[in-house]
Parts: sequence; C-alpha cells; structure tokens
Amino acid sequence: MAILPITIYGDKILKEKTKSVNNVDGNTIELLQNMFETMHNANGIGLAANQVGIDKSIFIVDLSLSEGYEKYKPIVFINPKITLYSDEKSVIEEGCLSLPNLRADVERASEIKIQYLDTDENIQELEASELLARVILHEYDHLLGKMIPDRVGDDIKQKLKNELASIKERKVKIDYPITTNKKL
Ligand code: ZN
Repeated sequence: MAILPITIYGDKILKEKTKSVNNVDGNTIELLQNMFETMHNANGIGLAANQVGIDKSIFIVDLSLSEGYEKYKPIVFINPKITLYSDEKSVIEEGCLSLPNLRADVERASEIKIQYLDTDENIQELEASELLARVILHEYDHLLGKMIPDRVGDDIKQKLKNELASIKERKVKIDYPITTNKKL
C-alpha cells in the first residue's frame, strides 16, 4: 500500500468529469487500498479518485472515526449515480483535503439515494441522511469536477478568494503529501 499525493484546488483533473470503471480489476483494488491509506493518513472521511490524480468514477467514505458513527463500515462507491435528492436541504460546514484548511457552509439535499457498484461489481443502493449524505454528496461532486467553491454563493466565494489563491499556490501549511506545483 502507498500514500499518494493529494491533488490540490487548481489541479486540472479536479475540474474534469471522471470516467466510468469498466471492470473492477486488480489495479482498481490496489487503487482503493491506496486511497484508504491516503485518506486515513490525512484524517479525511471521504476521498475521490481524482483527488489522487486518477480519472475514474470512484470514491470512498469512512465515517468510523467520527463521533457517533463508530459502527459505520467504510464504503467503496464505483460508478455511483444519485437517484434521489430530498427537497429538504441543510447547511453544513464542509472541508476538503484538496482545499487544505478551508471551511465553508454549503447547502445540499438532506437525504439522498445512491446506486453504485461494490468491489464485487454488484449493484448496491443506499439511502443516506445527515453526515453520510453530506459526505456522499461532497465526494460525488468531485466526480462531476465540482468542489466547494462551485457550491457556494458569490458572496461567500468572494470571501474565500484570497484563501483559494493561497491554496492554489500551495502557500498553506499542509501535513500530508500533495501534488507539486509543476503538475498544474
Ligand atoms: Zn473534497
């Protein structure tokens, strides 16, 4: 297993839609193991494949280290599709490993349904609410090439402007491996 460098806001791959996985082969399994190691090393609760520079429709979620969610098993989502968004929305403060140190209030659907493939290529469906729904929606956004700044109002985006510029230039303190500026 290996800890992979995490892509940072401004890296092109984070702005692009990811591609479907055709089959869950050994490379996919190795990627997933590396993604879990990378996410845990950075104390994250969710990670999308393009956050480690891989252009695939995969994300992982592990809430088991979050208070009150200890019984939740880590979940792998391959080729996910959100099939239902509740009309009810909630505003929750989010962070992102590709936006180090940044926090912002984001409004999203409170409950969702999602279909995806598991690592045995079986179709799974999950209904989620609260923190789980929130992390899933955040990670699903990564697969669409969207990030927190794309989901906040212009006023908040304006306030984040300087912070986003510093992140892009990697002028922030980050205690996990990230991609270098050269990759931009
Ligand atoms: Zn993120």
